[in-house]
Amino acid sequence: MKFSGDYHMHSKYSDGRATVREMVQAGRREGLQAMAITDHGPHNVGFGIKNSAAFLDLKQELARMNDEYLDINLLVGCEADIVGMDGEIDVPEDIYRQLDLLIVGLHPLARPNNLVDLWPLNIRNQLARYSHSQRQKVIAGNTKTLIAAMEKHPVNIISHPGLGMPIEVAEVARACVRNNVFFEINTGHHFPSLEDVRTAYREGVDFIVDSDAHFVASVGQLDYGARVLERAGVPVERIANACGEGKTLPWEK
Ligand SMILES: [Zn+2]
Ligand SMILES: [Zn+2]
Repeated sequence: MKFSGDYHMHSKYSDGRATVREMVQAGRREGLQAMAITDHGPHNVGFGIKNSAAFLDLKQELARMNDEYLDINLLVGCEADIVGMDGEIDVPEDIYRQLDLLIVGLHPLARPNNLVDLWPLNIRNQLARYSHSQRQKVIAGNTKTLIAAMEKHPVNIISHPGLGMPIEVAEVARACVRNNVFFEINTGHHFPSLEDVRTAYREGVDFIVDSDAHFVASVGQLDYGARVLERAGVPVERIANACGEGKTLPWEK
């Protein structure tokens, strides 16, 4: 299976180890037709972008490189954090509307908008590692808030669904179908599992395979996605960035 692009990765604007230019050079060496730099939102404690306005600096930097390099299509996005049980995210609408892609993900270290949500989003997720009864509540809460985010914002991709913050996969998958959101296979984390991929496939999602690269060496390394999707019997038509006849991605129109 070949992939046309890699649409989730990080640069030094957040916790990536390489500059935007170094990441772009890596994408060109890998022969990608397209790639997106999608740094973490500002509430990702210790890892996020310094503020949301900096996404516009990243956008400008990529626009200049797009003029320079004719062999690759460069896109800008963000990986926003969910910061409220109501599905609120840490990148404001007036910023994300100016970007090509909106990725949303649940991250255990994202600082919530208010103290009340610190319990369900952060503390209870930590307790759930040790307590079965808390785990059930955590799954219900995480699922609800992820779906709320998809309903509230024009999300393109949910990143690593369930990683570090467990979810009800079938329910999230159905919400992806309803809201035209791609369900990510994250090769950087080798996630989700074959079992979860099978569940999501049964519910009718379209998948996207991303590296979530934080280093140049990981850009375009999408093999785990090819393997897990082949094992689950998912056809190319259901994989957004698998090369295929006449396929276009919503952000490339
Ligand atoms: Zn993430
Ligand atoms: Zn990421």
